[in-house]
Amino acid sequence: MTPRILHLVLARSGDQASGVRGLSLFLVPSHDDDGNRLPVTITRIEEKMGLHASPTCQMTFDAAPAELLGIEGEGLRAMFTMMNHARLDVALQGVAHAARATAIARAYTATRRQGRDGVTLDAHADVRRMLDDAETLAMGGRALVHLAMVEMERGEHPDLVDFLTPVCKFTCTEAGVTAANLGMQALGGYGYLREYRIEQTLRDARVAAIYEGTNGIHAATLAGRLLRNAGGAAATAFARFLAEAPEALDVWQRARTVLLEAEDPAPAADAFMRLTAHAALVVVWQRFRAAADHAPDPQRLRHLAKRAAARAPLLMRHYADLVVLERAEASSCGQRPGCRAALGNPGGPVPSDRGGFKPRRSVATGSPAPAR
Ligand SMILES: Cc1cc2nc3c(=O)[nH]c(=O)nc-3n(C[C@H](O)[C@H](O)[C@H](O)COP(=O)(O)OP(=O)(O)OC[C@H]3O[C@@H](n4cnc5c(N)ncnc54)[C@H](O)[C@@H]3O)c2cc1C
Repeated sequence: MTPRILHLVLARSGDQASGVRGLSLFLVPSHDDDGNRLPVTITRIEEKMGLHASPTCQMTFDAAPAELLGIEGEGLRAMFTMMNHARLDVALQGVAHAARATAIARAYTATRRQGRDGVTLDAHADVRRMLDDAETLAMGGRALVHLAMVEMERGEHPDLVDFLTPVCKFTCTEAGVTAANLGMQALGGYGYLREYRIEQTLRDARVAAIYEGTNGIHAATLAGRLLRNAGGAAATAFARFLAEAPEALDVWQRARTVLLEAEDPAPAADAFMRLTAHAALVVVWQRFRAAADHAPDPQRLRHLAKRAAARAPLLMRHYADLVVLERAEASSCGQRPGCRAALGNPGGPVPSDRGGFKPRRSVATGSPAPAR
């Protein structure tokens, strides 16, 4: 494709025990200035589930000359400069997968007739549900990334961008997989065949939740570093963003408090991320509803906004309760000798002398706390 490739390589320059601080960023050219090939070798083309138009390979850089970029030991930090934008780009991949799945499913279900009345598939309530859900995921995700990217361009609220970036990556890549799955289901048997290409959308969408940092790592970052660092500035910026949706803010703030009190936020990180995503989407759909008159199809947008508004409190309550449950379970596990070791996490936080967390009330509903 090009006579010379410059590979950006993260490699360990410190000893094995140096952890991420031993990683440095290098520039490794495939050819020298005279055009001679350097020892940069492809050892294997990976066989993947999807993304077949974009080959992935394993490479070796045996004694290849490399130039250090930036400061030694700060490779990960340097790479994050690039990755922060890349995460929003991957979030947009999720949006594209969700939108593509919706488009395929809408086109197909508008023409195939089924059932006693001979109506098209999209006239059946269950198919309509799937189409509505898929389109809601695509539109909500697109608006969320749009918000984050506009904030990034403006540069006035970097804390909010920090907070929204993993939320966008998680939410939109999950949306891509879920919408592709819904789309496949809406097509029935043809969805599972290659003909309509929705199986390709599902295969391609899956990796977005894995690469550019797995969604589990993004959830852990949100529940850990972004709630705590710099006095929780990023989380406070997000709370300000939620101010226009007071009920969502209230549920989210209570879950935030539960996590701040937790010795180890990791077990509840996934639930907290999902709660955060739903809370952010409340703001998004409120704004959609307010602007519906300017949409190409105002009635459709109002319909989706109304559905989203009706479902959001239930979903938030569910994930807020899960935050409490996960935290309580982790706490009680921490009191039992050997419990963390049995989970393969002997290096995890030590049990508290004060004893485990005893939730009195459910975060969202005020109902009795789940049994431990
Ligand atoms: C098609 C494809 C393209 C790729 N392209 C690139 C690329 O261009 N550049 C690049 O650098 N990389 C690339 N990758 C690598 C990709 O970023 C990694 O696969 C991904 O970050 C996950 O790392 P891992 O595979 O080592 O999984 P692991 O780190 O082994 O993770 C396995 C599981 O354990 C969880 N886990 C791991 N560590 C922790 C922890 N500390 N706490 C809690 N949970 C944890 C993860 O969330 C995951 O669920 C690509 C991967 C694929 C599949």
